[in-house]
Amino acid sequence: DNISPEQINQKFIIHKYINETNLYHREKATFLILCRNSDLIDILETIQNVEDRFNKNFHYDYTFLNDEKFTNEFIYLISSFIPFGTINFGSIPAEHWEIPQFIDLDRFDLALNQDMRDIVYGDSISYRKMCRFFSGFFYKHELVKPYQYYWRIEPGIKLYCDINYDVFEFMHSNHKKYGFTLTMFEYENTIPSLWSDFQQFITMYDDDENQYNSNELMKLIQNQSSNTYNLCHFWTNFEIGDFSLFTSDAYEKLFTFFDYKGGFFYERWGDAPIHSLAIAISLKKSDLHWFGDIGYYHKPYLQCPKSSLMFINNKCSCNQDDDFSFTDLSCTNHFLNVINGL
Ligand code: GDP
Ligand code: MN
Repeated sequence: DNISPEQINQKFIIHKYINETNLYHREKATFLILCRNSDLIDILETIQNVEDRFNKNFHYDYTFLNDEKFTNEFIYLISSFIPFGTINFGSIPAEHWEIPQFIDLDRFDLALNQDMRDIVYGDSISYRKMCRFFSGFFYKHELVKPYQYYWRIEPGIKLYCDINYDVFEFMHSNHKKYGFTLTMFEYENTIPSLWSDFQQFITMYDDDENQYNSNELMKLIQNQSSNTYNLCHFWTNFEIGDFSLFTSDAYEKLFTFFDYKGGFFYERWGDAPIHSLAIAISLKKSDLHWFGDIGYYHKPYLQCPKSSLMFINNKCSCNQDDDFSFTDLSCTNHFLNVINGL
């Protein structure tokens, strides 16, 4: 109610000079950052880091999205940190953010007050809106329409190694649809109904004209001995993805089905298990890429390349002993076995 039409429609695009004659072919790609005005300082730190470690050589665009209007200070400071390319600032339309009409507010209220005490972010309404946005709407924003690829980053994340090649060109020339770094297990109490809802979806739609692929990735998420969710998911605060994964009819059908189940609100479904389930039914092994060479930190977990050659060549400054990717709390080993066909 406190959002004015002007806020809802904010769209502000800054074009920085690029000497096109010297520029090699860039992919249609953008960094994608959802954040609040109050994230400004953390974002500046992260952008400086991303520019130094990667983007100073490639000049990819940035897209900032917010459920409120970005302040002039935010736009001014951010754009002063990004020397080249296009910088998009946009607000999210209310219908992509606010609680949808079909949610029973009494049931939601009851869940918020009674069931959620021990659940991470269980009492937060805005966290739920954010997870729903990243499940069904980020790829529908008008500002991302010109792009084929996105790299999702968040305020406060860190890159710990130089990335000396164009990751988007890599995605393109290797026909990759989804690139990831960290993986882990979901908290079961955030998704009590998700797996049975998913089973219902599969029964209803699985043989629809092969929209849902060969099932060669179901092993990512399904326990071998029983038809249950192993809770593994890609940690979606890092994603290098092809928007077409999400703009497909197959994904829209799955998202709409999940959305009407109401679990984003009555439970506390994260976008990470939603993306992971969708990937498991709609992609092939060869569509996925693990960016094992990227040193990446999002509180409290770190991926630090194991290979000494990689570590030295890319000037990594993380502690390899603190790597999370090959610990028991990570799904990366399992995922790589599935992807590499072991
Ligand atoms: P966590 O990583 O699961 O702990 O969740 P975060 O708090 O980091 O949120 C994920 C991303 O969404 C971050 O980029 C946040 O800046 C952003 N975010 C979360 N909630 C909101 C919100 O209410 N408004 C806006 N504009 N951004 C949000
Ligand atoms: Mn985060």
